[in-house]
Amino acid sequence: MPRHFNFSAGPATLPIAVLERAKQELLDWQGGGTSVMEVSHRSKDYVALAVRAERQLRELLSIPEDYAVLFLSGGATLQFAGVPLNLLRGRADYVETGAWSAKAYAEAKRYANAGLGTVHLAATTDGNYTTIPKEDTWQVHADADYLHYCSNETVHGVQFFNPPQVAVPLVADMSSDILARAIDVRDYGLIYAGAQKNIGPAGLTIVIVRRELLDGQASPFCPSVLNYTLQANSDSMLNTPPTYAWYLAGLVFEWLLEQGGVAAIETQNRAKAALLYQTIDNSSFYHNGVDSSCRSLMNVPFTLADSGLDELFLTQATQAGLLALKGHRLTGGMRASLYNAMPLAGVVALTKFMQDFERRYG
Ligand SMILES: *Cc1c(COP(=O)(O)O)cnc(C)c1O
Repeated sequence: MPRHFNFSAGPATLPIAVLERAKQELLDWQGGGTSVMEVSHRSKDYVALAVRAERQLRELLSIPEDYAVLFLSGGATLQFAGVPLNLLRGRADYVETGAWSAKAYAEAKRYANAGLGTVHLAATTDGNYTTIPKEDTWQVHADADYLHYCSNETVHGVQFFNPPQVAVPLVADMSSDILARAIDVRDYGLIYAGAQKNIGPAGLTIVIVRRELLDGQASPFCPSVLNYTLQANSDSMLNTPPTYAWYLAGLVFEWLLEQGGVAAIETQNRAKAALLYQTIDNSSFYHNGVDSSCRSLMNVPFTLADSGLDELFLTQATQAGLLALKGHRLTGGMRASLYNAMPLAGVVALTKFMQDFERRYG
């Protein structure tokens, strides 16, 4: 069975070397005669694995010591609630640039409506989400507990290449571009990311938070497992963490370090995205409507000139070993996700297929 190129937006493709290693270790992890899934999270060997994975993530992103790193369950969507339940004390500002930041705002609004505080939309665009509103038009409150934004909108293919310059703590949903490009963690108060785009299997969520922000009180209604202070104090083992996903994330971190780290993978990511956007822009058959200043390196939505050809495109792509190119149900058309584990060869194969398809049907 050959490995196909999988362009899924998430759960997404993983490095083949990581899958091979997991397969090799599946029945007998570290010579203990069991799989890693079957050991206690409190055993010496597992705790060593957990500590190593955190150390590798800290190395990859140069995470300073005054930031806690949490390995939690529940997906990024749970953090849409976790952020206000932990950090909202008076007022918070949200920037809406696509489907995911809109969902984060809607979830925070539920808690505001229940009396937790006030949440306010500092900026938004029309529902097509093809641009990022200019920062000098944002209405940010100087007394806000935080400003929330999504650094890469997975559905709409809109990405921030620099963190917004605001005086209040910045909270970033980096689910689909964490570890894909260099960042300075110090620019952020809190970063969270579901694992299944660029880190590992679904079920694990990483939270990186400046310890200073944990000084205040979380809401009394915040579930303990969602309480950052409690989780930081118990090394993310207040209850059973998603142990296999944590293990696999550790293998991905190791793989990334072997690739030369985040800077090296960013160079590859830029080359992959440039090739695909060039192919789209050089044709009158394919179209991507996102403003060139904020086109995502990770998720590239595009449409065909004749949407009547969509099904044929997808069928033939699958036959050519190019999987999961169907666009999100909100946008239609196609979407190619080019996460770290997608090799350049996959994008070369995709662009050749696209050119060939255009020659035959365009
Ligand atoms: C996928 C995604 C989410 C939601 O992740 P879940 O794990 O399904 O909760 C949130 N934000 C962004 C940017 C995403 O890409």
